[in-house]
Amino acid sequence: MKLPEKLTKLKPYDPITGYYPVRLDANESYFDLPTVLKAKVADAIEQISFNRYPDPVATDVINAFAAYYGISPDCVTAGNGSDEIITIILNNFLSKGSRLVTVSPDFSMYKLYAELAELEVVTVAKKENLQIDMDALIAAAKEADAVLFSNPCNPTSLGEPREAIIRLIESAPDCLMLVDEAYMDFWDESVLDLVTKYDNLIVLRTCSKAMGMASLRMGFAVTDPYKTGLMRAAKSPYNCDAVTQVIAATVLKEQSLMQHCRDEIIVQTQRLYTAVNDLAQRFPEVLEKVYPPRTNFIFVKTAYAHEIFEQLLQKGISVRCFPNGLRICAGTRREQTLLLNELEDILQPK
Ligand SMILES: *Cc1c(COP(=O)(O)O)cnc(C)c1O
Repeated sequence: MKLPEKLTKLKPYDPITGYYPVRLDANESYFDLPTVLKAKVADAIEQISFNRYPDPVATDVINAFAAYYGISPDCVTAGNGSDEIITIILNNFLSKGSRLVTVSPDFSMYKLYAELAELEVVTVAKKENLQIDMDALIAAAKEADAVLFSNPCNPTSLGEPREAIIRLIESAPDCLMLVDEAYMDFWDESVLDLVTKYDNLIVLRTCSKAMGMASLRMGFAVTDPYKTGLMRAAKSPYNCDAVTQVIAATVLKEQSLMQHCRDEIIVQTQRLYTAVNDLAQRFPEVLEKVYPPRTNFIFVKTAYAHEIFEQLLQKGISVRCFPNGLRICAGTRREQTLLLNELEDILQPK
């Protein structure tokens, strides 16, 4: 039998595996949950009736999430990671052949899910400075069914101010705007509060980054109650399992802990930026540019990305390699010191 080419051409997602003592490649939080909170989580798991299906709406989770952001839980849909949320939207809010606009560079997963949903993908190149060309994006949005991009952006770590996003939303009111705010906890230009004002807006959030729960699969779509009803109807009923729900709800109620971790990570990211930027001043022929971060990672433009990546791996340090640069996530002070020492060593003329 013949399988469709969109499927047979695929390669499995290939994250860096193996043991590297310093992991700075996946944009994870470097804070594990405190031991007392793990004990609380264990207690909560013990209360689960394992023979029963989970709550299809993940009520406790969306209530805690909504309380943290000061929004209504009627605007929130929980998903098995924001990756699942993206596939639900692309497969149900759009139809085969619908036109989706993305920007480049951006999160690589968008293209995969769009192709599997058989959408027509139009990509708007970013400007030389790696910011979105908003006029070009608006022009493309006017001719499209949906726009999907991350803000702040993975992998550039740059962000577009809220005013620019509002201009986009208002300029193409018939185009669905999917704003992936996976890293917006680290910045302050969210449009989360506007989902009831604009009926063409859906915001995506996740527990995987600032919340420090990448081990779970929990992401959210935030949109008006009408579209939230549709999202909940289109998803598979038990998409979020009971164990994940109990853990996410327990952690999301710890508002001051989450804020503290977020604030610490922001400080560490700025430290990383300053230090690598200093190296870029000293070795400009290798490190071309470091972009000021709005997330928990930095992007370093370099023609030697692959060489540096390989040498760091040999020292037990994993970062993410792109054709034109490196993406390095904030780690603990100790991890950053190890990284900076190795990086400086690699850059020293031998
Ligand atoms: C990490 C990340 C996500 C999170 O995906 P999950 O499936 O929730 O883990 C979403 N969007 C972007 C741009 C990311 O970098």
